[in-house]
Formats: sequence, C-alpha cells, structure tokens
Amino acid sequence: MHETVLAQRLHKLILAESAKYGAKPVAAKISCGLFAAVNDELLREALCAISRGTAAENLKLKIEHKPPQGLCEKCKKQFNIDLSNIKCSFCGSADFQLLPDAPLILEEIEFESEKKNENKSRKKHIKRK
Ligand SMILES: [Zn+2]
Repeated sequence: MHETVLAQRLHKLILAESAKYGAKPVAAKISCGLFAAVNDELLREALCAISRGTAAENLKLKIEHKPPQGLCEKCKKQFNIDLSNIKCSFCGSADFQLLPDAPLILEEIEFESEKKNENKSRKKHIKRK
C-alpha cells in the first residue's frame, strides 16, 4: 500500500517534469534512507502499473539507499554510519547522535533525446527542496 502511494506521487512528479520539457522520460533516480520502509521491487512494480499507457511507460527506476548519518558529540562532524563499524569516521568516537533517516527524494530524470539517431539522453537534476 505504502509503495503504491509513493509510486503515484513519483509518477505525478515525473509527468510534470516531462510536460515541462516536452520529452519522454526514460529513467529516474530516487534516493531514500537505508531504514526507509521502501521495498524496491514493490515500488518498481507499482510505478510500472501506474505508468502503463502514459508518457512514463517503461521508465527505468533507480533506487539509491543512503546510509544513516551520525553527528559526533566529540568533534561535531556529520558522518555516514558504517553499520559494520559504528563510530565517528573522523575521530573514532562512539559518542554520537543518530540523525533522522534521509527522506525520499526524486533526484534525477533522464529524457529521451529529441533526435532519433542520437543515443544520448538528457539528464536533469531535480533541485532539493
Ligand atoms: Zn568525531
């Protein structure tokens, strides 16, 4: 259920960008936190079902899971938490706060090139809000 809602939201965003550029989207990249309850396969399936018959049909979805972030209490730096070695990557301190999980973000959409003989596709980076 959760993935269906996400897929609907993504689909809307992708179609809005596609309309702006007047090009067919061929791929999109999203990122989310490692602990976000997103099932990659379910999300892909849901998006595929929603996109059928629209400009976003057959769109490839790349999903990147970002590692959790910690804020070190000792050196006050922010670092990626390595789950096999949980400590500050700068000073080695184990005294840190766990920062909130990364939100789900649509990072990039790739559009089909306007020229048919050209294989290059245009990439667009979506600005983070
Ligand atoms: Zn530190």
